[in-house]
Amino acid sequence: MHFLIIGGSDAGIAAGLRAHELDPGCEITLILADDFPNYSICGLPFYLSGETPDWHSLAHRTEFPGIEILSSHTAETIDASQKTVQVRRAQALEWQLVENSQRVDVHPYEEAQGFQRLLDMPGYDVATLVEKSGKSPAHVYARLSLLQLIPSIAEAFSAERITASHANLLARLPQDVQANAYEQCWRKDWQDKEPHLLPAKHLAAWIQTNLYLSLAEAPFDKEDTTLNPVAGACVTCPRRSGFNTTLFADVQGDQCLDAPCFHTKVNAHIDREIAARPELVQIEDGWRKPTEKRPDAVQRGHFREIDTTTENPDAEPVMPCAAAKAALVVYGKRVGTTLTVCTDNNCPVHDPRAAARVAEHPAPVMEPAPEAETDEQAEERRQQYEAQRKAHEQEEDRRAEERRQQFEREQEEIEAENAKLDKLRKKRESTFERIIADTPPVFTAPQLRIILRALVNLDPYTFADDLAEDIADENDKRSAEEVLLSAIEGTIDDKLTSFAARLALAGHRGIPRESEFDFLTEAEAAFLTPKAPKKSSTSKKKEPTPIKPAKAGAKKTKAKTNPAPIAA
Ligand SMILES: Cc1cc2nc3c(=O)[nH]c(=O)nc-3n(C[C@H](O)[C@H](O)[C@H](O)COP(=O)(O)OP(=O)(O)OC[C@H]3O[C@@H](n4cnc5c(N)ncnc54)[C@H](O)[C@@H]3O)c2cc1C
Repeated sequence: MHFLIIGGSDAGIAAGLRAHELDPGCEITLILADDFPNYSICGLPFYLSGETPDWHSLAHRTEFPGIEILSSHTAETIDASQKTVQVRRAQALEWQLVENSQRVDVHPYEEAQGFQRLLDMPGYDVATLVEKSGKSPAHVYARLSLLQLIPSIAEAFSAERITASHANLLARLPQDVQANAYEQCWRKDWQDKEPHLLPAKHLAAWIQTNLYLSLAEAPFDKEDTTLNPVAGACVTCPRRSGFNTTLFADVQGDQCLDAPCFHTKVNAHIDREIAARPELVQIEDGWRKPTEKRPDAVQRGHFREIDTTTENPDAEPVMPCAAAKAALVVYGKRVGTTLTVCTDNNCPVHDPRAAARVAEHPAPVMEPAPEAETDEQAEERRQQYEAQRKAHEQEEDRRAEERRQQFEREQEEIEAENAKLDKLRKKRESTFERIIADTPPVFTAPQLRIILRALVNLDPYTFADDLAEDIADENDKRSAEEVLLSAIEGTIDDKLTSFAARLALAGHRGIPRESEFDFLTEAEAAFLTPKAPKKSSTSKKKEPTPIKPAKAGAKKTKAKTNPAPIAA
């Protein structure tokens, strides 16, 4: 019989001794997490009071007949069916910790796991780890924070696909945003087969802009526990950089690390402000879908912010025009803050054009009354003013009507110009598709020359993506290069020139700017035979069969300036 006893104090030792007494031949192993068995807990008050000055005397017996004692062993799991117990040896872990601190090749994640294993054991805290490893508290905290990485990122870090700098930045983020932040570590340029890792400073800048929210600039009360009752007040919240200044020594100011909670509080604050002051103009200072907008909010461009600051900070804000109102930003930059705005687009005070018009044609003012004036004279002065005011008003209406008509004319001109450009774009799309459809299986020398020149003048950054977009289905998950290579493989021999023409000319379909060379028109001359004049209204022109219908919408002009002519 072999007994395994867990626990080496009163109960454990008593059980071991009794087993040995009943069957002196049995094997007894006793494991205990403490460093000493049969430690006199009852004696602790005497040590603390000084009555027992040496704590060693509390561990009165360390050996027992027939009992094998394994101190500093912590039972982690017990499998009763298999009769196995998994133990962890604190001493061994400590040796490992000291050894790791001497090694230069230890992976930070491995080191972090070592720290954590010791922290899970009784009697260990960060101060102990600092003391035993000889590392700084900042180092120990930074390593321990690595254990907050989500498994996929921890795996990427262990496999050294990202550096310790990336991992440290990611580990400090809430787990639900880590995957998104990880995406920002990578970029795939047009010449890359696989995305490449960006320096950690890019990730740091992205986090600073997108995830860290300055508590100093928060519009709500940081001590208010009711804005988000689940999270409580910001001042006592651990999800901010100021809670652990050792770990966030590089982060400026106290930053909230929990964006969803921050936004919940901002919205609760806005709701409260609007409920308390329904007269506030609600401002959306940023673009979002109409369905997401607050129904009563005013968009950008429909208000002007007015600076009402005075030298006396306690003074009531002065409303400098009739349309000025107090407002609350409900979305966008400075969300949650209050401003003073003017909501009149033609405000004579705040619209510079309206102000200029008023200055040019000032409204008449009534002549001041002379010292002695009869009632008739006063009435005459009033009527004179009334007549001037009416004439001014009529003149203002006439000018306003003139401006309205001018605006309508300009709009019509813009629309006509847009229609013209649209027609030209469609014509160029159709020319492009006709060239592709008519491309012969073998290029003539002039055709090949224009194709090569168009290729040389492609925009290298966008052409692969643009062309792949033309060819592939929008749900296609392959890279642009993969799409193009597979299209080349799948094209029959006779159509390879057609594909080459598409490749070279797709980026030149847009309307070229004045300084740009028109490769499409040149290709049209080289590829398409001029149309025969129509013989009769009944004769039907044979339409070329397009390989693929042109996409709706304008293409960007990618052509560069006119290249130097190539000697034949
Ligand atoms: C300050 C103080 C004074 C006291 N004074 C008196 C007194 O005067 N008279 C009196 O009758 N009682 C006194 N008691 C109570 C008495 O100490 C306890 O009743 C007694 O120690 C209980 O013994 P135990 O073996 O059941 O548990 P514990 O003494 O708590 O021992 C638990 C054992 O299990 C081990 N262990 C725990 N987890 C693991 C693990 N995962 N793996 C391996 N080992 C593990 C520990 O290392 C330890 O050896 C006092 C208690 C205290 C705290």
